[in-house]
Amino acid sequence: MVNERDTQYLLLTPGPLSTTRAVREAMMQEYSTWDVDYNSLVQSIRSRLVRLAVRDDTNLDAHTAVLTPGSGTFAVESVIGSVIPRAGKLLVLNNGAYGARITTISRMLGIDTVELGQAEIESTDLGQVEQMLAGDPAITHVAMVHCETTTGMLNPAEAVGEIVRRHGRAFILDAMSSFGGIPMSMESTGAHYLISSANKCIQGVPGFGFVVADRATLEATGGWARSHSLDLFDQWREMETKGGKWRFTSPTHVVSAFAAALDELEAEGGVTTRHARYVANQGTMVDGMRALGFRTLIGDEVQSPIITSFYYPDTAEFEFQKFYDALKARGYVIYPGKVSHAQCFRIGSIGDVHPEDMTELSGHISEVIETMGVSLAFVS
Ligand SMILES: *Cc1c(COP(=O)(O)O)cnc(C)c1O
Repeated sequence: MVNERDTQYLLLTPGPLSTTRAVREAMMQEYSTWDVDYNSLVQSIRSRLVRLAVRDDTNLDAHTAVLTPGSGTFAVESVIGSVIPRAGKLLVLNNGAYGARITTISRMLGIDTVELGQAEIESTDLGQVEQMLAGDPAITHVAMVHCETTTGMLNPAEAVGEIVRRHGRAFILDAMSSFGGIPMSMESTGAHYLISSANKCIQGVPGFGFVVADRATLEATGGWARSHSLDLFDQWREMETKGGKWRFTSPTHVVSAFAAALDELEAEGGVTTRHARYVANQGTMVDGMRALGFRTLIGDEVQSPIITSFYYPDTAEFEFQKFYDALKARGYVIYPGKVSHAQCFRIGSIGDVHPEDMTELSGHISEVIETMGVSLAFVS
């Protein structure tokens, strides 16, 4: 019954996610951070990331990539703390926990910050973005989250990018949970800084983040950082001028796994093919869940293929922890909810996961809720 994997269960989570054996085996390599083999690997990753993010080959030289230590949030903090000048002002578009996190980071760093705060189930209000930018010329930067992993909502990064460009401000895009899994580019989003991390849709293991940046915009930020260890410009300059060296100890094993993950992304057919698989995963999973009577939190028109939020069944027999434990025992780890106003759980559809896994999952969920005595026949 339990899927035939070499790990204890399938991670249906937004990262760390299930990786392939080849990605994990790449970590058997041990590198010195000073060695040319390792530094060349870093350089090749940097240029592959630029190629993944840039649509038009003639724009490759106008972009650059930098790898940053820590989890994805450290990469976000590195950008927010390093690219906004002292006299700058940040507008954060917030409709979920990751948008709220950007505001928290920015305010803690003492940056002049305004927020367009919206409900977690509402997509970014483009009219209000337009109004706030038109009404406040002091705003120099706009930050938003592409796929809001809190709910699974896919925010309109391209439309916001167009507004930001028209108003001549700089655009910071947290594409953490979407880059590599949803087609996008620096050109289509107009992002000056696109942020993601090793353990999301590229399907590596956790340990570093990365930023693809408009080269000229990043090059102008020297000396602006509010933190030494998270100084984005300095980290970039070190890599750029020292052939791929990081400033401090780098996660060599994770970098090696990431290179293998990039090979696999290419072998799968690139982002378009991976996106199609994620769409098939999510579609199969949601069809199965709806057939059982579960309801999704947000509308299909704003739903990403990355992660899906489901309401708890409205019945006393349903206990999330029991449900979770029973699925885990059958080889599937799901994710608790994160929205503030409703009781939800989440199921991710990214990683080394395939539509057949989702079909099997539905069968298990059906058996588990029956065992729990949960009846979903009531659904309105
Ligand atoms: C995962 C994620 C992050 C970073 O989270 P970490 O736990 O620091 O890796 C940031 N933004 C979004 C949208 C994410 O999904």
